Amino acid sequence: MRLQLILPRVEPEKIIAPKKCADEECGSTHVEFLQEVEKPIRDTVYDQVKAHRYGCLRCKGTQRVYPVGVSRAQTSLRVQGLGVLLYLLGLSYGAVSLTLEALGVYLCKSRVYDIVQCVAERVPGLKRGEVFKRIKTPALAGDITSVRCNGEWLPLGLTVDDTNGLVLTIDDLSAEDTETLKEWLEPIATAVEAELLVTDDADAFKTVADELMLEHQVCKGHVKRNTEALIESLMAPAAQDADSSLSALGIAPQQAVADLKRLQELILKRQPEDEAELRTFHFRYLEATPPRKGEQASIAYRLRLLFLDRWNLWPRLTRYRTWQGPQGETVDGTNNGSERAIGWWIKERYRTMRGYKRPQSALNISRLLAWAGNHLDRGGADLALLIS
Ligand SMILES: [Zn+2]
Repeated sequence: MRLQLILPRVEPEKIIAPKKCADEECGSTHVEFLQEVEKPIRDTVYDQVKAHRYGCLRCKGTQRVYPVGVSRAQTSLRVQGLGVLLYLLGLSYGAVSLTLEALGVYLCKSRVYDIVQCVAERVPGLKRGEVFKRIKTPALAGDITSVRCNGEWLPLGLTVDDTNGLVLTIDDLSAEDTETLKEWLEPIATAVEAELLVTDDADAFKTVADELMLEHQVCKGHVKRNTEALIESLMAPAAQDADSSLSALGIAPQQAVADLKRLQELILKRQPEDEAELRTFHFRYLEATPPRKGEQASIAYRLRLLFLDRWNLWPRLTRYRTWQGPQGETVDGTNNGSERAIGWWIKERYRTMRGYKRPQSALNISRLLAWAGNHLDRGGADLALLIS
């Protein structure tokens, strides 16, 4: 697992004096040091630290301030962070508790759960309605995955800045139809000011891209694999003209085989200008008739559809070759960015468990991992930002 989490530190000497009264309504800035008191803590290093008591000169209210890495909680922030880290690495809540106990700190299973959930809820951004502020990208990649949650499959939609691989959002989706996908992607595309949408070859995404007036890149890897599978399934029947549908159109089987082989070459080269050649292929089989109800499609008709589909797809398949963002950004023509993010931040943690109990935890944990992942190239993710 690719994780670089910075655990909170405990610094007993570092106690920062408060600037004002703890009572919001009072708000007086006149507070004075009263005394030093012992604060027992559960930590891997210290049994206890000192805390300072301060009193308000106006309302006489008192407050305690703790050293860096210590809060009102019994457990130090370092141990809380360690609990989160162990959980993210794949341990169950119970196993985290046992591991911490072996390290000399007691933290019961339900407390581990509370800490992990609390930290996960504080992950900034990564929500559909709250994409990181100020993040803009001309190339937005989106993909869907699903996790088991309370015995049912929960679809999760993930978006990535395709120019740098950063995860932008993870949201739960109610379904995977075109309308749902559009509702999901529209606010994100608007917020980041996307111009290009990068997806796999699911048809629903084509409609969504068109309706949102985004340019569209369909993953070249997906198209290559799917096209090769179709060519393979058609090659032998076409060579034999097994149902005589080719000869009925006056097309020699050798011609069909040559067309399929040529398609194979074109799909590997993916040159925008080859669109015209695919059109020619499609028109060669144009007279092939669709199957009647209950009948199988003829070989000639299947060729007609295959060439039609690839011809229509061509601009979406080759868009990456000429596309450029306003700052000269480019994309590689695959949806590897979102697939990698799904693998690392959703599936890898999920692999060790039987499923999530609550949809909200599936989301929160995935967001927490993605948030940490977004900091991999920036020296690691500082857990102290999420723990208090
Ligand atoms: Zn006061």
